Parts: sequence; structure tokens; C-alpha cells
Amino acid sequence: MVLPRLWQRVGEWRRARALQRHAIPDTLWETVLAAYPFVARRSAADLQALRTLASLFLSRKEFHGTQGLQVTDEMALAIAVQACLPILGLGIEAYDGFVGIVVHPDEVVAPREVMDEDGIVHAYDEVLSGEAMGGGPVMLAWTDVLSAGETAELAYNVVIHEFAHVIDMADGEADGVPPLASAEARDAWIACIDTEYERFAGRIDAGDDDTVLDPYGAASVEEFFAVALEAFLVAPEGMQREHPALYELFCRYFRQDPLARSRQDN
Ligand SMILES: [Zn+2]
Repeated sequence: MVLPRLWQRVGEWRRARALQRHAIPDTLWETVLAAYPFVARRSAADLQALRTLASLFLSRKEFHGTQGLQVTDEMALAIAVQACLPILGLGIEAYDGFVGIVVHPDEVVAPREVMDEDGIVHAYDEVLSGEAMGGGPVMLAWTDVLSAGETAELAYNVVIHEFAHVIDMADGEADGVPPLASAEARDAWIACIDTEYERFAGRIDAGDDDTVLDPYGAASVEEFFAVALEAFLVAPEGMQREHPALYELFCRYFRQDPLARSRQDN
């Protein structure tokens, strides 16, 4: 069986070449880490893995700025680092389903229509800081990407939010359930996230405005998955306190523990 070994070697060679071509200069890496403390506090091993993943991400994805926005190396790396945080333990293949990333200078106003139960269509504008479509490009507003260091304490992160949708949709459906290896794992996931979602939506309905997770997560279970993943990665202490079962589920699935470093330090 020569062929599989040959393919493996070709794969390794391509990966090594991509890493070499897209090696991240030290100063650029340090600049981006300094902007995002929730990344910088990860262990040395996590940061090394993240840097490798970010290089592979930059070699495989295409960035497009709109309205004259030039996507610089620093901007692309800022997006790559945050996008790769969820897949730190999964590998770059988790993002094989799309190529393009569209970066708008600011939030985008999208005209929407909704039909009510009487069949009357209502038009409204939705302000978007990001959007992910199945198999399509991921759209991000640069202003929101830039402020992610400050908004981490609100458990808010637009890049992680949109890439959570990418991971969710990798099995073809946006339903808060990412690709899982078996029917049992899928059932266990659904049982956990549905319970957590119902409890969270109940709190929001009751007027609780002191949740760690963004109240937007009450909109649907897929939005709950996305805001929970934001919190898991940028505000893990609060996420673990309010959703311990979901925190453990995410640790197992994403093969990482964002609190590991602080546990070590204590
Ligand atoms: Zn969303």
C-alpha cells in the first residue's frame, strides 16, 4: 500500500510549505496578542498551536475588504487568531467548507422582510456586525473585530460568534448541534444544550438582565450555541459558573479548557 503513504507525505509537504509561506512574524504576533487578552492568557502550548493554525488559516482563506477597506496583514491575523480559537483542538479541517471572509469597515444595515400570521409582509432593517452562511463567505464588521479585547468582559466576540455558526452548519443544518461522531453523542449534545437553552430563555423572558451570556442567545438554540461559545472562549469563568454542564460539554467537544491556564496559576 504505497499510495496512502505517498498521499500522507504530499499532505505533510503541502502543510509544511503553507506554514513556511505564511509564517507569522514575531512582532505581528505580539501586537495581535496584546490586543486580545483572552487569547494572550492561554498556555504556551495553546499559543503555539494557535499560531500554527492561524498560519494554515491564512494560507487557505481569502479576505476581501468592502467600500475601499484594505485588509492588512495585522487585520487578517486578528481575524485568523480569533477564528482559530474554537478549533484549537479540532484542526483546520473544521473550516474546510468555506473560503471567503468579507470584511466591512463598519456594521451593515440589511433590509429584511417578515410575514406575520395574517400574511402581511413587514419590512425592517437589521443591523449586522457579522453573518455566516452555509458554504458561503463569512461577513464581519471590522469595528466589532477591533473592539473584541474590550467587549470580552461582556462575553461578546463577533468573530467567534460567526465561526460558531460555521461549525454548527458543517453538518448541513444551523440547529445548535455541530457534527458529532455518533447518534449517542448527538442525543447527549441535544439533551444538554436544549436544557441549558430553555433555562436561559426562561431567565431572559423573566426580565433577568444580569446573565453572563448575551441575551441575544434567547432568540433560538443556534444563537444560544453561538453566544455560549463566545462566552466559553472569552469569559470562561462566568460561563462555567452559570452553565457548568455546557462548559464541560464544550471542553470535551472542542478538546480544550479555556480555564486550564488560570487553574494552573492558582
Ligand atoms: Zn448569530
